[in-house]
Amino acid sequence: MTDRFNGNFTQQEPIPEEAIAAAVEVMRHGRLHRYNVAEGEAGQTALLEQEFAAFTGARYCLAVASGGYALATALRAVGVEAGEPVLTNAFTLAPVPGAIASVGARPVFVEVTEGLKIDLDDLAAKAGEARVLLLSHMRGHICDMDRLMEIADAAGMIVIEDCAHTMGASWTGVPSGRHGVIGCYSTQTYKHMNSGEGGLLVSDDAEMMARAILLSGSYMLYGRHLAGPPAEVFEQVRMDVPNISGRMDNLRAAILRPQLTGLAERIEAWNARYRCVEQGLRDVPSVTLVERVQAEAFVGSSIQFLLLDWPAETIHVLLKRCAVRGVELKWFGAEEPVAFTSRYDHWRYAPSERMARTDRVLAATMDMRLPLTFDLEDCALIARIIGEEVTALGPPAGGL
Ligand SMILES: *Cc1c(COP(=O)(O)O)cnc(C)c1O
Repeated sequence: MTDRFNGNFTQQEPIPEEAIAAAVEVMRHGRLHRYNVAEGEAGQTALLEQEFAAFTGARYCLAVASGGYALATALRAVGVEAGEPVLTNAFTLAPVPGAIASVGARPVFVEVTEGLKIDLDDLAAKAGEARVLLLSHMRGHICDMDRLMEIADAAGMIVIEDCAHTMGASWTGVPSGRHGVIGCYSTQTYKHMNSGEGGLLVSDDAEMMARAILLSGSYMLYGRHLAGPPAEVFEQVRMDVPNISGRMDNLRAAILRPQLTGLAERIEAWNARYRCVEQGLRDVPSVTLVERVQAEAFVGSSIQFLLLDWPAETIHVLLKRCAVRGVELKWFGAEEPVAFTSRYDHWRYAPSERMARTDRVLAATMDMRLPLTFDLEDCALIARIIGEEVTALGPPAGGL
């Protein structure tokens, strides 16, 4: 009756044997720095960039030290200046406003919908306030990208995409990260590829990418990039761009290359788990699921559901009761930031007005990781536990 789940929500899969072997080889020859290559050798980092460019269909790619660094580099590459307002999602994680703050700019938040996407009406209303939008596909929910780009183009606004949760996802067949001028990805342990820390940027814009490569700390060795623009583009900007070291190294790249090859298979595995939990929650009274539309090919590496208008005390009890049964739910409505979860009004360096619609959504948003170390039976059990606890606590049918 009161079965318990015994899995670990932060345990990812091991690194594939092939990746371990590649990492050992790099350690054996000792050339870990990306520009430390033998005669005729490309280097793991340059090869990863080439392969990730091909994976996303981008002309250029750059590998860096973290996803947050990729975001900050993108902001610098498009020329964001100190004090400048930058539009971004009110519903996202701390590295996003953090990247804006790291260049001295000022995050201006856009509301979130009940579908956990950026509110395009609010975006349209605010589009005139900033030159740049840092769009976060938070928890893998992709908004109507065609309408978003129309809004941005009409306002002359540059779009940078944070694809930390959408590596391998797409909108009407266009890979996530390919609508804006630069797409940024993370290869931190909890994302879709795991190198501990790491990030990737893609772009078709030669000058932006030349700036990003120089910013990342290429010195004058940019000629060793296999997925960078031609030398003459660098020659125009190389004396103007500061070196802000944040390169990826060959060891991490070696670990990532085999993971990129296996990504499509892992996406399928994530989505099977996602659909299993979703199915288990579908008929639970007072649970609002986020419906995925046909245009969105997503990666179900986490799942969210809403308990709209539940009192905070009841949600606290639910979190506790689920935790006792081994199910770790995250909640975006907590007064205080907890672990990885925080909210726009916690980011005191980015002062904002209260956003009533966003507050209502965040106060209802429950969030759960779905690591691939869970199997489908685990997922069914997790959904059953949540369903039982929500039903036990939830308001009677007929509403609040
Ligand atoms: C993880 C994450 C990032 C990048 O984080 P790093 O830890 O710096 O790689 C950016 N945006 C979101 C939404 C994230 O979850």
